[in-house]
Amino acid sequence: MIAIDNPPSVRLDRLRDFVVGMAQLIERENTEASFLRDGGKLLQELVAQDDWLPLEYTLASAERYRQYLLYADVHQRFSVVSFVWGPGQATPVHDHTVWGLIGQLRGQEVSQPYVLNDRRIPVPHGESITMLAGQVCAVSPTIGDLHSVRNASPDATSISIHVYGANIGAVQRNAYSDNGERKTFVSGYSNTSLPNLWGLG
Ligand code: FE
Repeated sequence: MIAIDNPPSVRLDRLRDFVVGMAQLIERENTEASFLRDGGKLLQELVAQDDWLPLEYTLASAERYRQYLLYADVHQRFSVVSFVWGPGQATPVHDHTVWGLIGQLRGQEVSQPYVLNDRRIPVPHGESITMLAGQVCAVSPTIGDLHSVRNASPDATSISIHVYGANIGAVQRNAYSDNGERKTFVSGYSNTSLPNLWGLG
């Protein structure tokens, strides 16, 4: 285990307030449209400031992008994950199978939507979207669930905060190779620890 000193000014209370807001939203509403709309506003507020994510959850790996769990609802109704891409790193084409919100915290990422053709092979669908810091976008089986994501920068880390309507690290879903071959996967998480969300400030 590596000890990492966070500056005392890390505003973990922002993440805690976001988690509380998401939990209240999920208690109050019961449609995907409201989770995406109102959750999107909460996420936009969270990623408007880049002063709250502890260093442990910002570290890239040379091998592949990392997925740090920041919070999982006890009923697995939602989870919050910090995705960290090193320079040039990318995902394969993949789906999520549940609603998801993506908020860009740092750097820039390019998301290319896909759809399955009649042979069940993914083909690009529309323009790619470049996500700038502070922006939020959504995925789901209803609005479009298939995409690939890459770090737009060849020399900097990018970080986005994702919220899903499940404990996403345990969800069985699909990825596609370049020749369209489908493979099921369960992503898990990269964590060796969780942020102490309830103990600070
Ligand atoms: Fe994705």
